[in-house]
Amino acid sequence: MVIVLKSGTKRDEVNGFIDSLKTLNVEVHRSEGASQVVLGLVGDSTRIREEQLRAHHLVEQVIRVQEPFKMANRLFHPDDTRIDVTGIDGTIRSIGGGKLGIIAGPCSVESIEQVTLIARNVKQSGAGFLRGGAFKPRTSPYSFQGLGCEGLDMLLEAKKETGLPIVSELMTIQQIEVFDDVDIIQVGARNMQNFNLLRELGHCRKPILLKRGMASTVTELLMAAEYIMAGGNENVILCERGIRSFDSFTRNILDLSAVPVLKKKSHLPVIVDPSHATGIRWLVPSMAKAAIAAGADGLIIEVHNNPEAALCDGEQSLTPEEFDSLMKVLRKYAAIEEKVFA
Ligand code: PEP
Ligand code: MN
Repeated sequence: MVIVLKSGTKRDEVNGFIDSLKTLNVEVHRSEGASQVVLGLVGDSTRIREEQLRAHHLVEQVIRVQEPFKMANRLFHPDDTRIDVTGIDGTIRSIGGGKLGIIAGPCSVESIEQVTLIARNVKQSGAGFLRGGAFKPRTSPYSFQGLGCEGLDMLLEAKKETGLPIVSELMTIQQIEVFDDVDIIQVGARNMQNFNLLRELGHCRKPILLKRGMASTVTELLMAAEYIMAGGNENVILCERGIRSFDSFTRNILDLSAVPVLKKKSHLPVIVDPSHATGIRWLVPSMAKAAIAAGADGLIIEVHNNPEAALCDGEQSLTPEEFDSLMKVLRKYAAIEEKVFA
């Protein structure tokens, strides 16, 4: 962090200010220009309150050269993080570090028959994880809200039958206790900045699939990950799922450049959700391929046995047959990127 002091600041004021900065556990390097003094802060300035410095009467400008996230930062952890999940059959499936995690399943769990059928199908096609929403964050309070705990039980049944680890979205702190047997907890786009929830999830050790908020910057996503990691849970998977922009042709705009950006800035695995990003079934395969080419560590794809009758997001769901064809193509893309399916 670099602090430019106002011109005309007196020597004893500069000294007093430097002494106050030193109490923040950083080294202060001073350089004197013709009319201005510039201070360089060296050390961990993550916890320094930038806005407080800016408000100081001696300060002209504050330039942050160190990023505000530490635990999620690649500078502090040069190697890729790999998230390992041990299935009930003892098989370890991983996301990151050369392993592509393919998560597939319905938007919402609708019945035991529906979720077990889809689970069997996606497993057959090579998916490593089963997704299924039990608690659904819907825009309208009149839309299907998910089957809640009953839906989670159905998902657990599908896990028992297929051995696939499961991924499901949690919306409140109170729900954490019913997610004991869920292998990866999803924090949805609408909750990415629910800081109390993030803090609480920092106290568990389960992998957290953190989706980018629909109007969030890459740095805000990394800061949300930092909330979870600062609590001690370093098992965070980042997910690009499209952001809001002016074009309404697609549901969201898939920000594929966020994938290499996040991977440059952070050691955490990055996956892509082409289903929510586009909202359109026929766009899912091309965006899934593009995501792998962009360096993603995995995909989360909605699959439904009867998309036309789906209670949620049918228009963006692939049929099991379409998912199967896509997986065959994705294997070739994975090979080019020298990655293997988990
Ligand atoms: C979902 O995965 O079903 C979902 C609601 O995703 P998002 O939070 O990205 O909208
Ligand atoms: Mn959905």
